[in-house]
Amino acid sequence: MLLLSGPNICGNEWKYVKDCLDTGWVSSVGSYVDQFEKMSAEFAGTKYAVATSSGTTALHICLLMMDVGADDYVITPNITFIATCNSIRYTGAQPILIDTDEHSWQMDLNLLEDFLVNQTETRNGACYLKKDGKRIPVIMPVHVLGNMCDMDRLMALAKQHHLTVIEDSTEALGSYYKGKHAGSFGLMGTFSYNGNKIITTGGGGMIVTDDEALAKKAKHLTTQAKSDPFEYIHDEIGYNYRLVNVAAAMGVAQMELLPGFLQRKKEIIAFYQNALNGVGDISFQQVSPDVNPNWWLPTIQTSRQREVLNILNNHKMQSRPFWVPMNQLRMFTGNQYIQQNDRSDYIYQRCLSIPCSTNITDEQLQAVSNKIREVFK
Ligand SMILES: *Cc1c(COP(=O)(O)O)cnc(C)c1O
Repeated sequence: MLLLSGPNICGNEWKYVKDCLDTGWVSSVGSYVDQFEKMSAEFAGTKYAVATSSGTTALHICLLMMDVGADDYVITPNITFIATCNSIRYTGAQPILIDTDEHSWQMDLNLLEDFLVNQTETRNGACYLKKDGKRIPVIMPVHVLGNMCDMDRLMALAKQHHLTVIEDSTEALGSYYKGKHAGSFGLMGTFSYNGNKIITTGGGGMIVTDDEALAKKAKHLTTQAKSDPFEYIHDEIGYNYRLVNVAAAMGVAQMELLPGFLQRKKEIIAFYQNALNGVGDISFQQVSPDVNPNWWLPTIQTSRQREVLNILNNHKMQSRPFWVPMNQLRMFTGNQYIQQNDRSDYIYQRCLSIPCSTNITDEQLQAVSNKIREVFK
């Protein structure tokens, strides 16, 4: 089976993991955790980075640090992976869902602005939904598939309406807007190292921020909130959300490989665009000249989505439909959904992601392209 987006273990992973096993430093502390955090902060251009057990737990901790709770709303795009909305629900808050821009497949900022101007109000320097008076402390943009929206506009809207920005940049390691790395725009950003992401630690995540107090607090909350180095004194309800050293060892090795992976992703998307653009009604996600995306997961749009999915998967070329839009999942059907012609559904019905592991060969890219072209013959 040709994997959709599988791990590429081709550097110092064995060496660093063996070092953990040989020395016994496998668990919740160790030098690889520190090193992985340092490398991540440097790469993202932030002052601090705190490793977590997953991207989902990173998002949860960020929301907790903003005191997001029951009776609050968090604004987020309607097309995202479920982890975004799950992390919001863990706090008791509810997502307000924004429909999708048909070209970039990111949150539609026109709809966002419309919503903020017409349906919210500012009281005591905070944003409230007019119709029920509940607070909207946070907006959580998602850099869907590693692409990014107009971040200047998003940040300006957030500032104007007193929203804290927490970036779900879990898909966007190596993506830039006007030369600035994803995750470094908001008060906090997050990364994921799940097996299908651009680099992997098996499972893991990261919080990045320029705010020292928040970084310290994130470390505290992810390590059971122990407040004394000797006695088991804990000063609040904490979480066991840390990344283990043996996973961080993999992370350090993968970070060393990241520039090469980013280069390969660019070659993969260029290959597919070259081979498939103009074939039938196939089109690609549109990227603004301000954005330098990581091309994490090449995805095509066509009215014959199901046929393409079938032919690829039948030939052991793993491909997947886009995520079911959040408003169509039973947990969120009752949530406020700010939409225009439900473009999320249109995109969902037509998009599919195609094999793009960084160790895919040009011959395999050609074989996938040929199979897709067969549908349109
Ligand atoms: C991968 C991902 C996450 C986090 O996933 P984990 O598996 O918990 O690391 C969160 N949001 C989005 C949009 C993702 O793609």
